[in-house]
Amino acid sequence: MTHFDTIIIGGGPAGMMATISSAFHGKKALLLEKNRRLGKKLAGTGGGRCNVTNSGTLEDLMEGIPGNGRFLYSVFSQFDNHDIIAFFEENGVKLKEEDHGRMFPTTDKSRTIIQALENKILELGAQIKTQFEVVSVKKKDQIFIVKSADCEFTCDQLIVTTGGKAYPSTGSTGFGHDIARHFKLKVTEIEAAESPLLTDFPHKPLQGISLDDVTLSYDKHVITHDLLFTHFGLSGPAALRISSFVRGGEILSLDVLPKMTREDVSQYLTENRDKSIKNGLKALIPERLAEFFSEELPEKIKQMDPKQTESLINKLKATQIPVTGKMNLTKSFVTKGGVDLKEINPKTLESKKVPGLHFAGEVL
Ligand SMILES: Cc1cc2nc3c(=O)[nH]c(=O)nc-3n(C[C@H](O)[C@H](O)[C@H](O)COP(=O)(O)OP(=O)(O)OC[C@H]3O[C@@H](n4cnc5c(N)ncnc54)[C@H](O)[C@@H]3O)c2cc1C
Repeated sequence: MTHFDTIIIGGGPAGMMATISSAFHGKKALLLEKNRRLGKKLAGTGGGRCNVTNSGTLEDLMEGIPGNGRFLYSVFSQFDNHDIIAFFEENGVKLKEEDHGRMFPTTDKSRTIIQALENKILELGAQIKTQFEVVSVKKKDQIFIVKSADCEFTCDQLIVTTGGKAYPSTGSTGFGHDIARHFKLKVTEIEAAESPLLTDFPHKPLQGISLDDVTLSYDKHVITHDLLFTHFGLSGPAALRISSFVRGGEILSLDVLPKMTREDVSQYLTENRDKSIKNGLKALIPERLAEFFSEELPEKIKQMDPKQTESLINKLKATQIPVTGKMNLTKSFVTKGGVDLKEINPKTLESKKVPGLHFAGEVL
């Protein structure tokens, strides 16, 4: 049995950063990961390019966090998105900014990020054990005992970074919630968030159409971002973002021309009245969407009566899309809920009830 100052369970972004921080502060640290490699879920973000962080202000970040974002003020005041950017640059990884402040490695490869984190862990003298699935955790006489099926380690401080329950094929199956329950900490109800949406809207003619910077709104929630029509409904950042506010039964409004007012669209149609509707729209939106919106309308713009013009402007500015449900946790990007934040000290992420036990990342 080997003793460590700190053991970290789960080698996703939270676990890798926790290991780096522990080792940086002089702790003898061990990172345990059940997959063959670290960062499996992180590798899939940003379409495999790794959406490292965002360049926005703290307020921008807070706005993007549904629920109790205030909990994160304290940790962000110690290490925020700009520290993440500086961290990678100091460690030889060049980042670039794309739309909406999204930051990616210039290599466009997740591996660059994961390799840099792994190198830093080893450079600071911490140990990594992959293919090590923790099956139980106990605390005896102020010491934590961490066991796999055939091996055990002990430590003074335990950091649980096992992720949530979304996309369990990446390894995050909710084990950290079991650890919390074992120590009698409350775990809130788990729900899918950032989920692709199922809709009652024609799928076949629209499948595969991707729209840049359109506005999707429901109630007071208005999201302007990219959107993708799929064979089941909607995906892409705008749909994923708005999914936190819907369950099924709501009607979304889609504005495919958010930079134009209804008057601008009306004027555009007047100026292009001699064109076919399809060709007129093709200059504004993807061709297949132009075809879909021109169905059941006359061929030319000038042939439309005022009611048909009004209906076309409505389609462009406020297409109504009924949501029938969301993808379940298996295909959702993020878990809503986890170890109850009331159980956790926001400055140190340590359990208020169990000294030495910490939780970080999506497990919270
Ligand atoms: C397709 C996809 C795209 C995404 N895109 C974005 C994005 O663009 N921006 C963004 O901010 N977020 C995105 N996310 C969410 C983001 O990836 C997660 O929030 C993040 O990875 C959570 O980090 P974590 O370290 O808390 O947990 P995870 O990354 O889930 O890591 C937890 C690790 O713990 C390990 N583990 C679990 N149980 C055990 C055990 N018993 N023993 C040992 N190891 C264990 C798992 O194998 C896993 O490697 C996306 C998610 C998906 C699925």
